Amino acid sequence: MVLVTPCDMEQLTNHLAELAQQGLYRSRRIIESPQSILLQIDGNKYINFCSNDYLGLANHPDVIQAFKSAADTYGVGSGSAHLICGHSSAHHALEEELAAFTGRDRALLFSTGYMANMGVIATLVGRSDTVFQDRLNHASLLDGALLSGARFKRYSHADTAQLDELMSNIPAKKLIVSDGVFSMDGDFAPLPALVSIANACKAWLMVDDAHGLGVLGQQGGGVLEHYALNQNDVPILMGTLGKSFGTFGAFVAGSEELIETLIQKARTYIYTTALPAAIAEATRASLKHVIADTWRRDKLNHLIERFKLGAQQLNLPLMPSDSAIQPLMINDSQQAVNISNYLFEQGFLVSAIRPPTVPKGSARLRVTLSALHEEQHIDRLLDVFAKIHKT
Ligand SMILES: *Cc1c(COP(=O)(O)O)cnc(C)c1O
Repeated sequence: MVLVTPCDMEQLTNHLAELAQQGLYRSRRIIESPQSILLQIDGNKYINFCSNDYLGLANHPDVIQAFKSAADTYGVGSGSAHLICGHSSAHHALEEELAAFTGRDRALLFSTGYMANMGVIATLVGRSDTVFQDRLNHASLLDGALLSGARFKRYSHADTAQLDELMSNIPAKKLIVSDGVFSMDGDFAPLPALVSIANACKAWLMVDDAHGLGVLGQQGGGVLEHYALNQNDVPILMGTLGKSFGTFGAFVAGSEELIETLIQKARTYIYTTALPAAIAEATRASLKHVIADTWRRDKLNHLIERFKLGAQQLNLPLMPSDSAIQPLMINDSQQAVNISNYLFEQGFLVSAIRPPTVPKGSARLRVTLSALHEEQHIDRLLDVFAKIHKT
């Protein structure tokens, strides 16, 4: 006797077919090698132009060694949340080093950047408050605002005049949130203007510098170092560790009160297992390289220039970006997928970014560069683009 009829999956089948038809179906490639410039997939090697490992630290021998020896010291699992018994001396040391690195009072580790953003925004604002966000902010920032229940206002990308207008006559607590470097566009947020607006309107300002930290600034201090802004200018800084640090996790840095408030209140901090101590130790090793290896930033900048110049000469649809994220605007989703597949056949991994990750009609190829690329990798990619462009 069947008591419960099985759930009807037909709806899902139809929805999946629809996605496929629109060129929006997503699937994963199975990687058989470490993260690096050459990735192995199905036994073949591909030149990787889609990773966020901008400094090439994900597979660095020092980082691997730190991870291994920390696993010997601490084991693998952290056992519990930070507030129970999961906060090891490795986590604590990393927090202190990240605070020093960012020039802030304190830093607090989160298990992922997604969780950090959700936790921070939902802790700092609530129903009677208002959050202002750039239209192109990362999904985790938008979700944090939704979770908080605050009034949610989005301004056109980098349009500080519009933000200024939106902010007037809002008496309640205000939080302005922006990506530092926009993840799918590669351009920098207009931070000096955001700082002025925040000061003039007595609003809080939060910057998510997932793609700037480690890469921008002489010392790798990110978009805030690039613009010479400090903790007074931007009181809330979020950084991720899975990108230029090459490991995993995230942190928030700011004042003593900010960090203590997050420890008491941020649900995505309190109710989750601490990341493994070995990850924290590996990140301490990678932080040393982030600080010391200025050659990685110099080389990356050189490669960015070379790519941009070559792409300009070919009249490719480059977007206005000076960062390691160099998207080519294709507009049509299916066409972006077709080009990405063609590049794959030619031995290059370049991802097609489609809605809803980017606005409708703005599908693009997101080329990302790494300090471990060589000039010849860039030139070979440009050669294939030249061929595509001609046909
Ligand atoms: C990657 C990213 C995140 C999320 O960080 P994870 O640690 O991967 O969860 C948040 N914000 C931006 C801008 C990102 O690019």
